[in-house]
Amino acid sequence: MRWRQGRRSANVEDRRGRVARRATVGGGAVMLALLAALLLGQDPGKVLETIGVSTQQVPQQTAPQTQQQDELTEFVKVVLADTEDVWHRIFTASGARYQEPTLVLYSDMTETACGYGQAAAGPFYCPADQQVYLDLSFLRELKRMGASGDFAFAYVIAHEIGHHIQTLQGIAHQVRRAQSQMRRTDANALQVRMELQADCYAGIWAHHAHRQRQILERGDVDEGLQAAAAVGDDQIQRSAGRRVHPESFTHGSSEQRVSWFRRGLETGSVQTCDTFQ
Ligand SMILES: [Zn+2]
Repeated sequence: MRWRQGRRSANVEDRRGRVARRATVGGGAVMLALLAALLLGQDPGKVLETIGVSTQQVPQQTAPQTQQQDELTEFVKVVLADTEDVWHRIFTASGARYQEPTLVLYSDMTETACGYGQAAAGPFYCPADQQVYLDLSFLRELKRMGASGDFAFAYVIAHEIGHHIQTLQGIAHQVRRAQSQMRRTDANALQVRMELQADCYAGIWAHHAHRQRQILERGDVDEGLQAAAAVGDDQIQRSAGRRVHPESFTHGSSEQRVSWFRRGLETGSVQTCDTFQ
Protein backbone atom coordinates (compact mmCIF):
# COMPACT_ATOMS: atom_id res chain seq x y z
CA MET A 1 0.00 0.00 0.00
CA ARG A 2 1.31 3.46 -0.92
CA TRP A 3 0.90 5.48 2.23
CA ARG A 4 4.01 7.50 3.11
CA GLN A 5 3.05 10.51 1.02
CA GLY A 6 -0.39 10.73 2.63
CA ARG A 7 -1.64 13.37 5.03
CA ARG A 8 -1.39 12.56 8.77
CA SER A 9 -4.62 12.92 10.75
CA ALA A 10 -4.56 15.12 13.84
CA ASN A 11 -7.29 12.98 15.43
CA VAL A 12 -5.08 10.28 16.92
CA GLU A 13 -4.81 10.29 20.70
CA ASP A 14 -1.84 8.35 22.02
CA ARG A 15 -2.48 6.71 25.38
CA ARG A 16 0.17 4.03 25.04
CA GLY A 17 2.17 3.41 28.14
CA ARG A 18 -0.49 5.05 30.29
CA VAL A 19 -1.95 2.83 32.96
CA ALA A 20 -5.72 2.60 33.11
CA ARG A 21 -7.32 2.45 36.54
CA ARG A 22 -7.70 -1.15 37.53
CA ALA A 23 -11.08 -2.48 36.59
CA THR A 24 -13.03 -4.21 39.31
CA VAL A 25 -14.08 -6.87 36.86
CA GLY A 26 -11.99 -9.68 35.44
CA GLY A 27 -10.69 -10.38 31.95
CA GLY A 28 -13.22 -10.71 29.21
CA ALA A 29 -15.59 -8.34 31.01
CA VAL A 30 -15.90 -6.17 27.95
CA MET A 31 -16.90 -9.06 25.75
CA LEU A 32 -19.35 -10.24 28.39
CA ALA A 33 -20.85 -6.77 28.60
CA LEU A 34 -21.15 -6.79 24.83
CA LEU A 35 -22.90 -10.14 24.84
CA ALA A 36 -25.16 -9.15 27.70
CA ALA A 37 -26.15 -5.98 25.90
CA LEU A 38 -26.90 -7.95 22.76
CA LEU A 39 -28.84 -10.65 24.49
CA LEU A 40 -30.67 -8.64 27.07
CA GLY A 41 -31.00 -5.38 25.24
CA GLN A 42 -29.09 -3.46 27.88
CA ASP A 43 -27.65 -0.03 27.39
CA PRO A 44 -27.82 0.01 23.60
CA GLY A 45 -25.59 3.06 23.14
CA LYS A 46 -22.73 1.48 25.00
CA VAL A 47 -22.08 -1.60 22.96
CA LEU A 48 -18.57 -1.98 21.58
CA GLU A 49 -18.29 -2.53 17.85
CA THR A 50 -15.44 -4.91 17.18
CA ILE A 51 -13.84 -6.42 14.12
CA GLY A 52 -14.72 -9.88 15.34
CA VAL A 53 -11.31 -11.14 16.42
CA SER A 54 -10.08 -11.26 19.96
CA THR A 55 -6.45 -11.68 20.87
CA GLN A 56 -5.53 -14.75 22.82
CA GLN A 57 -3.66 -13.00 25.56
CA VAL A 58 -3.43 -9.51 26.88
CA PRO A 59 0.01 -8.29 25.78
CA GLN A 60 2.43 -6.80 28.24
CA GLN A 61 3.48 -3.46 26.83
CA THR A 62 5.67 -1.79 29.36
CA ALA A 63 8.67 -1.67 27.02
CA PRO A 64 9.56 1.67 25.44
CA GLN A 65 8.04 2.34 22.06
CA THR A 66 10.02 0.84 19.27
CA GLN A 67 10.82 2.32 15.91
CA GLN A 68 8.42 -0.17 14.36
CA GLN A 69 5.63 1.12 16.59
CA ASP A 70 6.41 4.70 15.55
CA GLU A 71 6.11 3.70 11.93
CA LEU A 72 2.83 1.91 12.63
CA THR A 73 1.52 5.05 14.32
CA GLU A 74 2.36 7.08 11.21
CA PHE A 75 0.55 4.49 9.14
CA VAL A 76 -2.56 4.66 11.33
CA LYS A 77 -2.57 8.47 11.04
CA VAL A 78 -2.46 8.28 7.25
CA VAL A 79 -5.25 5.70 7.01
CA LEU A 80 -7.39 7.76 9.38
CA ALA A 81 -6.73 10.92 7.34
CA ASP A 82 -7.77 9.06 4.18
CA THR A 83 -11.04 7.97 5.82
CA GLU A 84 -11.64 11.61 6.85
CA ASP A 85 -11.10 12.88 3.30
CA VAL A 86 -13.25 10.18 1.75
CA TRP A 87 -16.17 10.44 4.17
CA HIS A 88 -16.11 14.25 4.21
CA ARG A 89 -16.57 14.17 0.46
CA ILE A 90 -19.36 11.58 0.56
CA PHE A 91 -21.27 13.32 3.36
CA THR A 92 -20.91 16.74 1.72
CA ALA A 93 -22.19 15.37 -1.58
CA SER A 94 -25.41 14.30 0.16
CA GLY A 95 -25.80 17.63 1.97
CA ALA A 96 -24.62 16.36 5.36
CA ARG A 97 -21.61 17.15 7.51
CA TYR A 98 -19.10 14.50 8.52
CA GLN A 99 -17.96 14.56 12.14
CA GLU A 100 -14.47 13.13 12.45
CA PRO A 101 -13.98 10.49 15.13
CA THR A 102 -10.91 10.27 17.36
CA LEU A 103 -8.74 7.17 17.18
CA VAL A 104 -7.22 6.22 20.51
CA LEU A 105 -4.00 4.21 20.53
CA TYR A 106 -3.62 2.36 23.80
CA SER A 107 -1.80 -0.55 25.31
CA ASP A 108 -3.40 -3.32 27.32
CA MET A 109 -6.46 -1.58 28.72
CA THR A 110 -8.13 1.83 28.63
CA GLU A 111 -11.20 3.67 29.82
CA THR A 112 -13.96 4.35 27.30
CA ALA A 113 -17.52 5.64 27.52
CA CYS A 114 -18.51 2.02 26.84
CA GLY A 115 -16.62 0.70 29.88
CA TYR A 116 -13.10 -0.65 30.00
CA GLY A 117 -11.62 -1.50 26.63
CA GLN A 118 -9.16 -4.37 26.62
CA ALA A 119 -6.66 -5.23 23.95
CA ALA A 120 -7.93 -8.81 24.22
CA ALA A 121 -11.22 -7.73 22.63
CA GLY A 122 -9.44 -6.55 19.46
CA PRO A 123 -9.94 -3.11 17.89
CA PHE A 124 -13.34 -1.59 18.59
CA TYR A 125 -15.54 1.46 18.18
CA CYS A 126 -17.52 2.94 21.07
CA PRO A 127 -20.67 4.75 19.84
CA ALA A 128 -21.10 6.57 23.16
CA ASP A 129 -17.88 8.58 22.76
CA GLN A 130 -17.54 8.09 18.98
CA GLN A 131 -13.97 6.88 19.29
CA VAL A 132 -12.07 4.02 17.73
CA TYR A 133 -9.76 2.14 20.10
CA LEU A 134 -6.73 0.35 18.79
CA ASP A 135 -3.89 -1.57 20.40
CA LEU A 136 -1.12 -1.91 17.83
CA SER A 137 -0.33 -5.41 19.06
CA PHE A 138 -3.46 -6.50 17.19
CA LEU A 139 -1.38 -6.51 14.04
CA ARG A 140 0.40 -9.60 15.35
CA GLU A 141 -2.93 -11.32 15.87
CA LEU A 142 -3.99 -10.46 12.34
CA LYS A 143 -0.79 -12.02 11.02
CA ARG A 144 -1.36 -15.10 13.12
CA MET A 145 -4.76 -15.46 11.44
CA GLY A 146 -3.12 -15.37 8.02
CA ALA A 147 -3.93 -11.77 7.14
CA SER A 148 -0.59 -10.04 6.87
CA GLY A 149 0.30 -6.83 5.12
CA ASP A 150 -0.37 -3.15 5.64
CA PHE A 151 -3.55 -3.10 3.59
CA ALA A 152 -5.05 -5.82 5.79
CA PHE A 153 -4.46 -3.60 8.82
CA ALA A 154 -5.92 -0.60 7.00
CA TYR A 155 -9.06 -2.63 6.25
CA VAL A 156 -9.52 -3.26 9.98
CA ILE A 157 -9.27 0.47 10.75
CA ALA A 158 -11.63 1.35 7.90
CA HIS A 159 -14.12 -1.26 9.21
CA GLU A 160 -14.20 0.43 12.63
CA ILE A 161 -14.68 3.81 10.92
CA GLY A 162 -17.57 2.09 9.12
CA HIS A 163 -19.24 1.66 12.52
CA HIS A 164 -18.76 5.39 13.11
CA ILE A 165 -20.55 6.09 9.81
CA GLN A 166 -23.43 3.84 10.92
CA THR A 167 -23.63 5.81 14.16
CA LEU A 168 -23.75 9.15 12.31
CA GLN A 169 -26.40 7.74 9.98
CA GLY A 170 -28.54 6.62 12.91
CA ILE A 171 -28.44 3.03 11.65
CA ALA A 172 -26.54 1.77 14.70
CA HIS A 173 -29.16 3.22 17.06
CA GLN A 174 -32.06 1.71 15.11
CA VAL A 175 -30.40 -1.70 15.09
CA ARG A 176 -29.73 -1.62 18.85
CA ARG A 177 -33.35 -0.71 19.52
CA ALA A 178 -34.67 -3.48 17.31
CA GLN A 179 -32.26 -5.98 18.86
CA SER A 180 -33.46 -5.20 22.35
CA GLN A 181 -36.86 -6.65 21.43
CA MET A 182 -35.65 -9.76 19.64
CA ARG A 183 -34.72 -13.30 20.39
CA ARG A 184 -30.99 -13.99 20.44
CA THR A 185 -30.74 -15.65 17.03
CA ASP A 186 -32.62 -12.78 15.37
CA ALA A 187 -30.49 -10.20 17.18
CA ASN A 188 -27.37 -12.02 15.98
CA ALA A 189 -28.65 -12.03 12.42
CA LEU A 190 -29.19 -8.28 12.59
CA GLN A 191 -25.71 -7.85 14.05
CA VAL A 192 -24.26 -9.71 11.07
CA ARG A 193 -25.93 -7.20 8.72
CA MET A 194 -24.36 -4.34 10.72
CA GLU A 195 -20.92 -5.90 10.43
CA LEU A 196 -21.23 -6.65 6.74
CA GLN A 197 -22.23 -3.05 6.13
CA ALA A 198 -19.11 -1.90 8.00
CA ASP A 199 -17.09 -4.20 5.72
CA CYS A 200 -18.76 -2.65 2.68
CA TYR A 201 -17.97 0.84 4.04
CA ALA A 202 -14.33 -0.22 4.44
CA GLY A 203 -14.42 -1.11 0.74
CA ILE A 204 -15.81 2.35 -0.04
CA TRP A 205 -12.85 3.90 1.75
CA ALA A 206 -10.40 1.86 -0.33
CA HIS A 207 -12.24 2.69 -3.56
CA HIS A 208 -12.09 6.46 -3.05
CA ALA A 209 -8.70 6.63 -1.36
CA HIS A 210 -7.29 4.82 -4.38
CA ARG A 211 -9.00 7.20 -6.78
CA GLN A 212 -7.67 10.20 -4.87
CA ARG A 213 -4.09 9.09 -4.44
CA GLN A 214 -3.54 5.62 -5.90
CA ILE A 215 -2.93 3.86 -2.59
CA LEU A 216 -3.38 0.34 -3.94
CA GLU A 217 -0.35 -1.62 -5.06
CA ARG A 218 -0.22 -5.07 -6.60
CA GLY A 219 -1.54 -7.63 -4.13
CA ASP A 220 -3.30 -5.13 -1.85
CA VAL A 221 -6.82 -6.07 -2.88
CA ASP A 222 -6.04 -9.72 -2.24
CA GLU A 223 -4.61 -8.74 1.14
CA GLY A 224 -7.83 -6.95 2.05
CA LEU A 225 -9.97 -9.83 0.85
CA GLN A 226 -7.80 -12.26 2.77
CA ALA A 227 -8.20 -10.17 5.91
CA ALA A 228 -11.97 -10.09 5.44
CA ALA A 229 -11.96 -13.87 5.04
CA ALA A 230 -9.69 -14.42 8.04
CA VAL A 231 -12.05 -12.58 10.40
CA GLY A 232 -15.18 -14.40 9.22
CA ASP A 233 -17.04 -16.11 12.05
CA ASP A 234 -16.91 -19.53 10.36
CA GLN A 235 -13.14 -19.26 9.93
CA ILE A 236 -12.71 -18.19 13.55
CA GLN A 237 -14.87 -21.02 14.87
CA ARG A 238 -13.01 -23.52 12.69
CA SER A 239 -9.55 -22.31 13.69
CA ALA A 240 -10.59 -22.50 17.33
CA GLY A 241 -11.38 -26.17 16.72
CA ARG A 242 -15.11 -25.65 17.10
CA ARG A 243 -17.94 -26.65 14.82
CA VAL A 244 -19.39 -23.91 12.65
CA HIS A 245 -22.68 -22.58 14.02
CA PRO A 246 -24.12 -19.95 11.67
CA GLU A 247 -26.86 -19.01 14.17
CA SER A 248 -24.20 -17.80 16.58
CA PHE A 249 -22.50 -15.60 13.98
CA THR A 250 -22.26 -11.93 14.82
CA HIS A 251 -19.90 -10.80 12.05
CA GLY A 252 -20.79 -12.97 9.06
CA SER A 253 -19.05 -15.81 7.26
CA SER A 254 -15.77 -15.35 5.41
CA GLU A 255 -17.61 -15.52 2.10
CA GLN A 256 -20.10 -12.83 3.16
CA ARG A 257 -17.40 -10.52 4.50
CA VAL A 258 -15.31 -10.84 1.35
CA SER A 259 -18.33 -10.27 -0.85
CA TRP A 260 -19.47 -7.07 0.92
CA PHE A 261 -15.97 -5.65 1.18
CA ARG A 262 -15.53 -6.28 -2.54
CA ARG A 263 -18.85 -4.63 -3.31
CA GLY A 264 -17.84 -1.41 -1.55
CA LEU A 265 -14.43 -1.54 -3.15
CA GLU A 266 -15.83 -1.92 -6.66
CA THR A 267 -18.70 0.55 -6.52
CA GLY A 268 -17.56 3.15 -3.97
CA SER A 269 -21.26 3.83 -3.40
CA VAL A 270 -23.04 3.95 -0.03
CA GLN A 271 -26.32 2.88 -1.68
CA THR A 272 -24.86 -0.49 -2.67
CA CYS A 273 -24.02 -1.21 0.97
CA ASP A 274 -27.60 -1.70 2.14
CA THR A 275 -27.16 -5.03 3.87
CA PHE A 276 -30.55 -4.69 5.57
CA GLN A 277 -32.64 -5.11 2.42
ZN1 LIG B 1 -17.40 -4.56 13.40
